[in-house]
Amino acid sequence: MPDDAPFRHALPPALPAGTRPALAAEPPRPEVTRSLRSAADLVAAGLLEPAKQDAVAALAERYAISVTPAVAALMDSGDPADPIARQYIPDPAEAVTLPDETEDPTADAPFTPVKGIVRRYPDRALLKPLLACPVYCRFCFRREAVGPDGGLLTEAELEAAIAWLEATPEIREVILTGGDPLMLSPRRLGWLMGRLSAIPHLEILRVHSRVPVADPGRVTEALVAALETEKAFYLCVHANHAREFSDKSAEALRRLNRAGVVLLGQSVLLRGVNDSPEALEALFRAMLRHRVKPYYLHQLDKAPGTARFRVDAAEGLRLVAGLRGKVSGLAQPDYVVETPGGGGKVLVRDQA
Ligand SMILES: *Cc1c(COP(=O)(O)O)cnc(C)c1O
Ligand code: SF4
Repeated sequence: MPDDAPFRHALPPALPAGTRPALAAEPPRPEVTRSLRSAADLVAAGLLEPAKQDAVAALAERYAISVTPAVAALMDSGDPADPIARQYIPDPAEAVTLPDETEDPTADAPFTPVKGIVRRYPDRALLKPLLACPVYCRFCFRREAVGPDGGLLTEAELEAAIAWLEATPEIREVILTGGDPLMLSPRRLGWLMGRLSAIPHLEILRVHSRVPVADPGRVTEALVAALETEKAFYLCVHANHAREFSDKSAEALRRLNRAGVVLLGQSVLLRGVNDSPEALEALFRAMLRHRVKPYYLHQLDKAPGTARFRVDAAEGLRLVAGLRGKVSGLAQPDYVVETPGGGGKVLVRDQA
């Protein structure tokens, strides 16, 4: 059995020789005590080369930056190729939009019957109560929409979205997403869970969140209590690398598990983050150890400026096939891609 023990720790595993520049002259990084939200913050924390500051500051006008202390602590000192840093530290290449990249790659807009709702399937719908996240991932498929000051539904808009759900009896499952629903205060989240729990035709409530790995300190007893419901409840955690499962994240997941929350995992296949047999194996093994069942491995959606993360489907299929038999059947997510134009998720198959 391969030894994946190094991935249990916050410390980065040693990289093969020659994959990073000599760091001998680097001063120790200052400890990060609050979320980093600008190019200047990243430079001050030793997580962005000063030479890139102006280009990244210009990018930040379009795509929000946020790196929580928990995430900063996982980054290999100043190395932009570190698989954690690569997910969150902006790169000037993001200013380039390729011809096949689009602002709404999953086509949410045409499937929005009322603000905050996306319905692509007969029996389930998304509800996006806010568009803020604990971190802003550089590959995000909703990067044109998410951000710290956008997208909180007003009281009236949220009431209208709930009214739509109440009036649409075919919907059996509501998926709270955003943004990140666990950014709501426990009071607000508890209120929303209560309203949804009171809709008789809803059988399943689901939350999609990056909080348990990106800002695990938010998973307090109060937050867990807010998720309490008589409906079937699933929490799908977004994580892309084994090292995201820090000790603090483990504690957050254990707390959710103790409260009876069923934990699922979703990941995006990302160049330079998890595009190797070893990285995927370590990721899915880490999920299972933390009681998270890998559910989906997503093919990257082509949002603007995300080309550096692309892995083509043929390579993805080879990587996924390599897991079969080698790791537990529980560790095999479905490898899916969003059909262009909003047709929904389908399994990635050999296009040849
Ligand atoms: C991804 C998605 C869902 C959930 O799909 P599952 O396959 O059930 O996980 C539901 N609605 C929309 C609009 C989606 O994009
Ligand atoms: S947490 Fe999700 S929605 Fe938020 S920036 Fe990352 S990928 Fe996008």
